[in-house]
Amino acid sequence: MAARPAPYLDDLNPAQREAVEALDGPVLMLAGAGTGKTKALTTRLVHLLNTGRARPNEILSVTFTNKAAREMKLRVGRLLGETVEGMPWLGTFHSICVKLLRRHAELVDLKSNFTILDTDDQLRLLKQLVQAAGIDDKRWPARQLAGVIDHWKNRAWTPDKVPAGEASAYDGKGVALYRQYQERLRELNAVDFGDLLLHMVVIFQNHEDVLKQYQRWFRYILVDEYQDTNVAQYMWLRLLAGGHKNICCVGDDDQSIYGWRGAEVGNILRFEKDFPGATVVRLEQNYRSTPHILAAAGGVISGNKGRLGKELWTEVDEGEKVRLIGHWDGEEEARWIGEEIESMQGGTRGMRPFSLDEMAILVRASHQMRAFEDRFLTIGMPYRVIGGPRFYERMEIRDAMAYFRLVVSPADDLAFERIVNTPKRGLGDKAQQKIQVAARQNGVSLLEGAAILLEEKGLSGKGAAELGRLVEGLRRWGRMAGDPSMSHIELAEVVLDESGYTEMWQNDKTPEAPGRLENLKELVKALEGFENLQGFLEHVSLIMDNESEEQGEKVSIMTLHAAKGLEFPAVFLPGWEDGLFPSQRSMDESGLKGVEEERRLAYVGITRAEELCTISFAGNRRVYGQWQSQMPSRFIDELPEDHVEVLTPPGLYGGGYGSAGLGGSGIESRAAEADGYNSPGWRRLQARAGQRPLSQPRESKASVIDAQAVSSHTVGERVFHQKFGYGAILGIEGDKLEIDFEKAGVKKVVAKFVSGADD
Ligand code: ATP
Ligand code: MG
Repeated sequence: MAARPAPYLDDLNPAQREAVEALDGPVLMLAGAGTGKTKALTTRLVHLLNTGRARPNEILSVTFTNKAAREMKLRVGRLLGETVEGMPWLGTFHSICVKLLRRHAELVDLKSNFTILDTDDQLRLLKQLVQAAGIDDKRWPARQLAGVIDHWKNRAWTPDKVPAGEASAYDGKGVALYRQYQERLRELNAVDFGDLLLHMVVIFQNHEDVLKQYQRWFRYILVDEYQDTNVAQYMWLRLLAGGHKNICCVGDDDQSIYGWRGAEVGNILRFEKDFPGATVVRLEQNYRSTPHILAAAGGVISGNKGRLGKELWTEVDEGEKVRLIGHWDGEEEARWIGEEIESMQGGTRGMRPFSLDEMAILVRASHQMRAFEDRFLTIGMPYRVIGGPRFYERMEIRDAMAYFRLVVSPADDLAFERIVNTPKRGLGDKAQQKIQVAARQNGVSLLEGAAILLEEKGLSGKGAAELGRLVEGLRRWGRMAGDPSMSHIELAEVVLDESGYTEMWQNDKTPEAPGRLENLKELVKALEGFENLQGFLEHVSLIMDNESEEQGEKVSIMTLHAAKGLEFPAVFLPGWEDGLFPSQRSMDESGLKGVEEERRLAYVGITRAEELCTISFAGNRRVYGQWQSQMPSRFIDELPEDHVEVLTPPGLYGGGYGSAGLGGSGIESRAAEADGYNSPGWRRLQARAGQRPLSQPRESKASVIDAQAVSSHTVGERVFHQKFGYGAILGIEGDKLEIDFEKAGVKKVVAKFVSGADD
């Protein structure tokens, strides 16, 4: 076949080219962040197609997320100069395994139209089994069993293969219940997520003909983020690559961040043993970040033991140092980042202007997002949350809000429907129908309908007793809401506790549960900004109203885990405090393993930044209305000083937030209340601080732009804001306008989002 031109190869460095052109046999690309692993992998895919080595459907490409898969398809299309249809085997492990399993379902006694259970269904099923086995599910919650089974499936252990060492799991009954559960799934013609891989591994192991067929079919295998594969995924890949051995894996041991979900970094370190004669390519040139950012990331990750160790260098100009700033508390941190993003859009402190799309906030825990979302909604800053719902859209937040709504408005039937059987109260579809009927016949709300139904003894057994407790509880909480001596924050806690909702998540042993509990705490924290529950509920409904899908530039907010593989010109890393990052759980673990995984997460975070990386922490966080002093993260100590610039928060050193925030004296008086403010870490930070106070812009260019933007408005003028609608200007301050909005009330907004009402 005549060689087709391959201009895409010219964009690669020699090491990348080697990895791309070594088409046959196993290849491992083991290299640090931003060295172009994903780029080389994508180019390899293009090269395979372009040289005619394989057709699109003969290449198996595994990415970590669906988003990454879409991205790769796009990039391949761009490099080939044509749209790539028919890459059926480019996707996540799960999406690929669903397709395969549908073809071979009968080999594991399933029909090809099997259903995939979600976590809720899975739990319901497990609960039935636990109850049937006469196990006290208060002591041994079904969720714990779900976690155990998941763990075993990640290791590709069928019930027969669970090792003897695990026999004590779930009060010694884990293995037997696992077996029953698999049986039950089979009867239901259903699988859970873990099964998708497990069944395929079993099929490949037991049916050589099937395995051979795919070994032949998938002439080439490509895997990104190999360091985060679990044992089942690893076995699946090894089996498939067993024929041609044309497998190319790329990864970075320093970015292994899914150990908590069963990923084994050992998989990548073992590659050369698994595939003797593998071409191993190491990339050292980083194309993403400035030298300061790389040095900061390198400084932090060097604290880990047992690394392969990699040097990264870059030809990019030195750029800005990594910026470090401490704040009074989490709300201040959110406020500062909001303002900083606004000024960066105009180009501030001698830096180029950044668009909103170029900026991202990466948090350790999803509950941290709430402060940013609230702040951004207040100032009308467009944002998107990547890799998960926005804070107020999360399941646990909606559940909790439904309880609050019912306390405030007992006739809120939608809220009632949402929580009547959450937590489970033994009120199935039938019971709920009876409540509906009672309500309709008497022309009352569902809550009252439920009360009538109970009075008339229309319901019996456990369900009746539990419903009685709920009805009674809602009445009691309603009375408390009217009691001025009880704060709405206290009330919220009482509601979540007495309803059993918090307990439901405390008993939950799935990996998501701790995060959900944190979110609930964060919800209670959000209440502090309001006079009463009613005011808070109104605020949230306004927020939700504003959430129509707008196009246009937005700041991205996501967790560090979701940021894997991505890059942004400017990155904010808030909440670098011991107990938050590294997480309390990782610090409590014996040995260093947990903290080392957190450190890799820090490395992932810093290396997402191309030009500017800003790390921050708060001296205090409020938990349930109490100040809790925070120590700056141990990772802050590990940042090499030469590459870090400590910024001074305004208000602390003579700057000020003006009327929008705290004056210096306010901070001092509040400082006396909180020990964290005098913590050694905070003092250390102060000692390093003060090199370039935020209140003194390096160049005055920005303020000139701002002044121009504002000069077009006058006090009293009627204006229109993209998010809050019409209003009248009350005051002008720098590039901010204080506006009395007709619908949203008085708010301070950025002038550039405001136009004259008649424009
Ligand atoms: P991560 O470990 O974070 O996943 P990675 O090693 O996969 O990073 P890529 O995302 O492939 O790195 O590349 C990082 C950036 O560098 C991208 O913007 C990419 O386009 C660019 N890049 C990679 N290789 C080259 C090259 N040879 N020349 C110019 N730019 C490159
Ligand atoms: Mg990558």
